[in-house]
Amino acid sequence: MVNNMTTASLPLPLVWTPPRGAKPPKHLADLTIEQVRAAVLEAGYPAYRADQLSRHYFEAPAGLDITAIPRTDRQALSEQFLPPLLESISERSADSGKTRKTLWRAFDATLIESVLMRYPGRATLCVSSQAGCGMACPFCATGQGGLTRNLSAGEIVDQVVWAARAMRAGDLPGGPGRLSNVVFMGMGEPLANYNRVLTAIRRMLAPGPHGLGMSARGITVSTVGLVPAIHRLTEERLALTLAVSLHAPDDELRDTLVPVNTRWPVREVLDAAWRYADVTGRRVSIEYALIRDVNDSPERADHLGRLLAGRLTHVNVIPLNPTPGSKWDASSPRAQDRFVAGVRAHGVAITVRDTRGREIDGACGQLAASVGGADKS
Ligand code: SAH
Repeated sequence: MVNNMTTASLPLPLVWTPPRGAKPPKHLADLTIEQVRAAVLEAGYPAYRADQLSRHYFEAPAGLDITAIPRTDRQALSEQFLPPLLESISERSADSGKTRKTLWRAFDATLIESVLMRYPGRATLCVSSQAGCGMACPFCATGQGGLTRNLSAGEIVDQVVWAARAMRAGDLPGGPGRLSNVVFMGMGEPLANYNRVLTAIRRMLAPGPHGLGMSARGITVSTVGLVPAIHRLTEERLALTLAVSLHAPDDELRDTLVPVNTRWPVREVLDAAWRYADVTGRRVSIEYALIRDVNDSPERADHLGRLLAGRLTHVNVIPLNPTPGSKWDASSPRAQDRFVAGVRAHGVAITVRDTRGREIDGACGQLAASVGGADKS
């Protein structure tokens, strides 16, 4: 890979760096089928080539083989509509192969990660919506490096298409299957990249061959609580699952765990969440990373229970996953049980998430996209 014809004086960079602000190549996954047809026509090809390209992309390996397109047009059409977006540069597996983390390299050498998890009866892909993240939550590995850039819709869809293909092909133990769920819980704050995330979601929802034909209920958008964007999402009326990363019931503590809380405090975030639930009829998930001696007291369990009682909601407790250099740890099993019981006492549904992939740095909050999976320092 690296230039090893030691012509020492050549000052070749090891990695090509595009000009700052260069955009990822346009791809058919960035467009609606109508837009692809218009672009195909404009490029001088019959509109049905758009449908063939889409089928090839979204339904491979079962979809139409690209060789059905005459060789003369194939290359030009592929270059224009199916440029490579993400290259897998490493894969790590856990849980006997049922959890797989992929490190992707984008056109500008940006690194991102996604994690595919197979369970009995379902398969979930945890996708990244940004390279890095600007939200700076101190317990999250991604938050420590800041935001590199937004991913394009195509780059988000490409992670999902890859996983859908892997499932169809039976690449994970258990034979061929279907990708049933996508959670925006990888790198990034999805609502800070709103338009591209929604474009990507529309491609996941669109029926084949113009999308992945997924169900909105199977797609979870997880947010730190960007209130105006939650309202905007409510108006899309898409029946997506909304997850809110609360982590503390009181502003004093939440200001330190989720810094954006100083802009939109707990009450405003929850009001926006309840409005989402009212309008869409969807139960909102409240994410709560349980951190030893930080947010796991019985008083906070009680406070959380009071805030959520009677609402259309479900609490997901995530035992804190350790991140490099962090002073924090997961709660003891006793404190965790006590916390869960304290919230449940208010009649609130609460479960502890079975986090996968800790040993491959693939669990919640551990995605730092470093080459070889080594810790970022
Ligand atoms: N930006 C989105 C998606 C982030 S990842 C959001 O904040 O919701 C999904 C979840 O993992 C969030 O609830 C996040 O707070 C949580 N998380 C981050 N770091 C974690 C860690 N080290 N251990 C456990 N959960 C973590």
